[in-house]
Amino acid sequence: MSGGRVDVAVVGLGPAGRALASACATRGLRVVAVDPRPDAVWAPTYGVWEDELVGLPASVVRSRLAAPEVRAVDVHRLSRRYVVLDNVALQAALPLGDVDVRRGRLDDAGVAALTSSARVVVDARGARPQGLRVDDPAPAQTAFGVVVPADVAAPALQGAEALLMDWRTDWRADGDGAGTAGLRPSFLYAIPLGDGTVLLEETCLAASPPLHVEELEARLRRRLAARGVAPSAVDAPLGREVVHIPMRGRGRPPVEGTLAHGVAGRGGHVVTGYSVAHALRRSRTLADELAAGHAPRGVDAPAPADALREAGLRAVLRLDVEGTLALFDGFGRLPAHLQRAYMSRDGSLLDVATAMGSMFRRMPWSGRRELARATLLP
Ligand SMILES: Cc1cc2nc3c(=O)[nH]c(=O)nc-3n(C[C@H](O)[C@H](O)[C@H](O)COP(=O)(O)OP(=O)(O)OC[C@H]3O[C@@H](n4cnc5c(N)ncnc54)[C@H](O)[C@@H]3O)c2cc1C
Repeated sequence: MSGGRVDVAVVGLGPAGRALASACATRGLRVVAVDPRPDAVWAPTYGVWEDELVGLPASVVRSRLAAPEVRAVDVHRLSRRYVVLDNVALQAALPLGDVDVRRGRLDDAGVAALTSSARVVVDARGARPQGLRVDDPAPAQTAFGVVVPADVAAPALQGAEALLMDWRTDWRADGDGAGTAGLRPSFLYAIPLGDGTVLLEETCLAASPPLHVEELEARLRRRLAARGVAPSAVDAPLGREVVHIPMRGRGRPPVEGTLAHGVAGRGGHVVTGYSVAHALRRSRTLADELAAGHAPRGVDAPAPADALREAGLRAVLRLDVEGTLALFDGFGRLPAHLQRAYMSRDGSLLDVATAMGSMFRRMPWSGRRELARATLLP
């Protein structure tokens, strides 16, 4: 790298890397960033809780949903605003004008080599910088979604403004009396995108090995048909989205001498798979630390609450369909502040323990037994 030693080298310009590079440059640091497609608009449909989106202009919100619902056996309206991000506006709100942006794809050795030309090297290359393997066995969230006009999607929403998680089982194969024994649960995520279209996505919250996207597409097709949505919604949608989120991020320590940020590190929530709101916030505080001359030893240090979230992931991976419905009815019955604690990447041990304990007490006895078995067995 020419031009002398820089303050920060950021590898990867997804939400985590871009937010950090931009925040560091804004604070006057000399920043180099490397990404194979630095100008690309991010493809995923990112949703976050509005209260977790701080320090950004209103333009970054594409769609605002006042009361998304969780449906399991019962219907639960969440009194918490959920927003869909406008990726073009978000990227514009994280400008790279003062960053030396380079086009390139680096392996671990290439990232490590940057330590000779940058005071701090941050690896933000995502969970799988070498590309996703179809047979990746790590626990992952997978989903298959279609974008359709709002009037086409209306029967799927069944009167809800938005469905954050609809766990009901109308995705089952009909006609053969099929139950759900042995099947991984999945839910419908149905989110208006603010431009007269709706994302309808069949999602497996987490499975190991991950549930195949083809299976999720078939379930979406059956679920939508059961609700009276025309088959063309899946056959000829306005857009498609495929999701694969390794729940534990990269799942190995950072490259020697570097920091790992976003899902390259420990920035993701191991139960929900979400990371964007946390990464945007953490980028600012990390940039503050770097601008103050500190040399942080890690970005998202291990925390006592991690063990509880890992137990939460174990439960999600092991619970059958009935147990999962009971779990999310328990979640839906929580007061809003405990729902927040359960889903937040930043909740304290006490917050998360209180939320999980309260969920447990709000479940029926059969559900509690299943949850205890799923969580506590090795
Ligand atoms: C379809 C989809 C939908 C999602 N929806 C949500 C959501 O609604 N809310 C939420 O919070 N989370 C969501 N997630 C999960 C997670 O938050 C995202 O994966 C998020 O993009 C992670 O941000 P990141 O910057 O850490 O990594 P990434 O977004 O993966 O960014 C990594 C960057 O590194 C670059 N890169 C990769 N390899 C190399 C290399 N070898 N050298 C240099 N650069 C490299 C890539 O080009 C990319 O720009 C979703 C994920 C997917 C896949």
